[in-house]
Amino acid sequence: KAKMTRRGSHVIFEAAIRQELENRLTLESELALAVDRGEFELFYQPQVRLIDGSLIGAEALIRWRHPVRGYVSPGEFMPVVNTSALSERIANWVMETACRQARDWEISGNGVRVAINLSPSQLHSGDLAHSVAALLEATGLTPSLLEIEVTEDILIQDERRVLDMFKRIQELGVRVLFDDFGTGYASLSYLKKFPLDGLKIDRSFVLDLLADSDDAAIVGSTIGLSKQLGLTVVAEGIENRATADFLVSMGCAEGQGYFFGRPMPAEAFEKQFLATELDAASAA
Ligand code: C2E
Ligand code: MG
Ligand code: MG
Ligand code: MG
Repeated sequence: KAKMTRRGSHVIFEAAIRQELENRLTLESELALAVDRGEFELFYQPQVRLIDGSLIGAEALIRWRHPVRGYVSPGEFMPVVNTSALSERIANWVMETACRQARDWEISGNGVRVAINLSPSQLHSGDLAHSVAALLEATGLTPSLLEIEVTEDILIQDERRVLDMFKRIQELGVRVLFDDFGTGYASLSYLKKFPLDGLKIDRSFVLDLLADSDDAAIVGSTIGLSKQLGLTVVAEGIENRATADFLVSMGCAEGQGYFFGRPMPAEAFEKQFLATELDAASAA
């Protein structure tokens, strides 16, 4: 009888794996079509000075406007993208779209710094620093208006290659920030190894900041550490004023979160955050 059960569960397990594989293949072919059909969009989330809520920049976050499911968030499809042949195409589309948008805003008189999230594959495929340089050249975007966010799965790769890439990107005048700081295995050692311009405190430490004294201790020391190292520090996941105020009291200057604005389409971002300048520009 025990044997039967084992065999039974084996069959179920196999079916589950087959189902998962099928789902992945369906998703992959849907994603390939999505690229051709232009179903991807970049949303923009405001990054602000915490002291007064004034705009500093925006983080570009990818969305998939699925014909049936509506907007799909990156957590659902980027893991598949990043391990598929589509990775490079989509990453290039993100970089190009963000740079063009930033340049449009720059021309309209709004110096909005735009941050993009790098995909792990972008450090393997070709020369990233060269692509960034070419893109700045092609769009005419001022380099300091572009920022690149990298996560630990990128830093964990070939150290010398990453180091060289960062240096060359920074020489262009583009800043590099460490995203999701504190969630990886060796966040501190990366601060020592790589020439980073700043770090973003992961939202998992910020969401519950007021109620959880451990989170408060971690966030407080991360802010202190950043200052000592001369790094910009950005807190993400700020959902209410009290959290923003608390961060200010701990010396954190910049932040991002639903309290200041959700990720939104470019037009909505313009209306909400650039309205006066754009109106003035078009009236002139
Ligand atoms: P991330 O880079 O850490 O982006 C911040 C995420 O936190 C975004 O999720 C944003 O919507 C969410 N968030 C912002 N404020 C709040 C808040 O106050 N509360 C809560 N609960 N969440 C908040 P999103 O847009 O779903 O993106 C998830 C992740 O997907 C990003 O994390 C990033 O790692 C990745 N991603 C997004 N767009 C791109 C892209 O264009 N390229 C690459 N390679 N990765 C991307
Ligand atoms: Mg990010
Ligand atoms: Mg993050
Ligand atoms: Mg994240």
